[in-house]
Amino acid sequence: MKIYNTMTRTKEEFVPINGNKVGIYVCGPTVYDYIHIGNARPMIVFDTLRRYLLYKGYDVNYVSNFTDVDDKIIKRAIEEGVAPSEISERYILEAKKDMQELNVLEATTHPKATEEIPDMIAMVETLIEKGHAYEVNGTVYFRTRSFPGYGKLSGKNIDDLEAGHREIKVAGQEEKEDFLDFVLWKPKKEGEPSWPSPWGEGRPGWHLECSVMSKKYIGDIIDIHAGGEDLIFPHHENEIAQSEAANDVEFAKYWMHNAFLKIDGEKMSKSLGNFFTIRDIGKKYPLQVIRFFMLSAHYRSPLNFSDTLVESSKASLERILNAMARLEDAMNCAEEKETTEEEKEILLKIKEYVAKYEAAMEDDLNTADAISVIFEMVKLANSSITSNNAKSVITEIYETIGKLCDILGIITKVENEILDSDIEALIEERQAARKARNFARADEIRDMLAAQGILLEDTREGVKWKRK
Ligand code: AMP
Ligand code: ZN
Repeated sequence: MKIYNTMTRTKEEFVPINGNKVGIYVCGPTVYDYIHIGNARPMIVFDTLRRYLLYKGYDVNYVSNFTDVDDKIIKRAIEEGVAPSEISERYILEAKKDMQELNVLEATTHPKATEEIPDMIAMVETLIEKGHAYEVNGTVYFRTRSFPGYGKLSGKNIDDLEAGHREIKVAGQEEKEDFLDFVLWKPKKEGEPSWPSPWGEGRPGWHLECSVMSKKYIGDIIDIHAGGEDLIFPHHENEIAQSEAANDVEFAKYWMHNAFLKIDGEKMSKSLGNFFTIRDIGKKYPLQVIRFFMLSAHYRSPLNFSDTLVESSKASLERILNAMARLEDAMNCAEEKETTEEEKEILLKIKEYVAKYEAAMEDDLNTADAISVIFEMVKLANSSITSNNAKSVITEIYETIGKLCDILGIITKVENEILDSDIEALIEERQAARKARNFARADEIRDMLAAQGILLEDTREGVKWKRK
């Protein structure tokens, strides 16, 4: 498989460090609010990478952190008058719910910054011992010029950076030896969460957590380090400096960065009023549609989010689901019989499509082309398959489309997807509609549930339901 490596700016053949094992580290969200639609892009893209590597037989160790100590979390906690941990715990739970709805597999480990403080302190100590860091008044800084490779990922020149910094002097940071130095540990401010350390009570800098957690849960060398392109500088550059200075080995073999998601062509921001959480979008569209939409573009291309584009993804996804439902029916009615010459051709074509799909995925995870191949298969199924075909042939095309969709995390079988709580809420809504003599809505709800295999029975004790 070829992967575009931000470090070398070329597509490179992916070769894991350790045989069949692949360690992936993806920078996760800061949990001070519901995750937004932009945060979902790296989650979906790199989950798809993980799924493809699993399909290829690799043993994937997927680590993605939650940043649960940060200025934004503290600000929110003060606004609500609660402890910062209450904010972070709440939004970790909510993020996990959203990720589940987006069909993002649970990470092998989801470390939290606040639970890794001793290891962070240990790495800072190592950096100080090696002359890569120093303490001033309770703050520990990384001595950027002590790391010769600084700037290698972002392609930035250290002297240009320094020149830029001289003009924008940051208040309160005059104590640094050099403007390029960044914080590893900062002293406690009143009302903020803090931990004891050799430099006094304080908390870690943001960049440090990823260096420490990837080392602990994957090792000194990571196969693939990923995140959104905004993280290339300074976050990933600083992670490299910390890790390579501390561990004396190359930090990550491949660096993957997704391009940004824009809204109607503009950067998403709260002030522009075009900021959407996944939770809000989920009220408008099933999150499966959002997943499909995200994968309909290559991850390194900017992606524009608009209702028109999402509607078109919704229609596309429905085409796949309809074809799958039709194939399932055909499969259930079909008989086992000898395959005809024409069917042998179909089976051959399926094999070709699988090869074409794999070639797209092998080319730096080209999910857009992979989806086109699925549509070619859907077209073949719609035009050539009926219940008159041999059961084995129908099964083959049905299972292959299902498998290829599953690698993209696209669920093609809707059965039992509906949760008990959703069913009960709909039944309640149906009762209210009946009371209000809105029988059209009541029937609509019954039909909707029936379509998902939920049968309602009106009894004297109330409405009972069962799954077909
Ligand atoms: P944050 O919580 O801002 O650190 O973001 C968590 C992850 O989401 C990082 O990998 C970011 O690069 C990514 N991200 C944030 N905004 C967007 C966006 N609009 N489009 C794509 N990725 C984003
Ligand atoms: Zn990170």
